[in-house]
Amino acid sequence: MTNLRIGHGYDVHRLAAGRKLILGGVEIPWERGLLGHSDADVLVHAVMDALTGAARLGDIGKLFPDTDPAYAGISSLKLLAEVGRLLAERGFAVVNIDAVLLAQAPKIAPYKERMAENIAAALGISPEQVNVKATTEEGLGFTGDGSGMAAHAAALLELLE
Ligand code: MG
Repeated sequence: MTNLRIGHGYDVHRLAAGRKLILGGVEIPWERGLLGHSDADVLVHAVMDALTGAARLGDIGKLFPDTDPAYAGISSLKLLAEVGRLLAERGFAVVNIDAVLLAQAPKIAPYKERMAENIAAALGISPEQVNVKATTEEGLGFTGDGSGMAAHAAALLELLE
């Protein structure tokens, strides 16, 4: 059997007034932010679920329960670093990550490189191994009408000998 493992992550958060908008660890000036127990960084959550999926570690709900006060308001990049530690402990190295944010607004392009750098730094890998992109959904559905944002991510891991 090959030593490569693929994982897919998906997450959704609702947009609400009075919250900071944190995406890929970047605080983006916007009239609303994502609602959640942590900083609600939907992009990083999808990345973590892709990584935990590839390593067969379940999902982030299992690793970091939202009933645990320790995770209230926590930066999702800290949780991502913890996922990275768990992967390394089990002999996994990250080959690459590809993530896509589904949001009608604001414009994400100016922040994509910083998001990739933040994700790479949390995992101790090169930004060259992380791709972040974004799309609108043409005004359709809950991302299109601005009620929320979603993200998908794929991750490839190598199990080192
Ligand atoms: Mg989430």
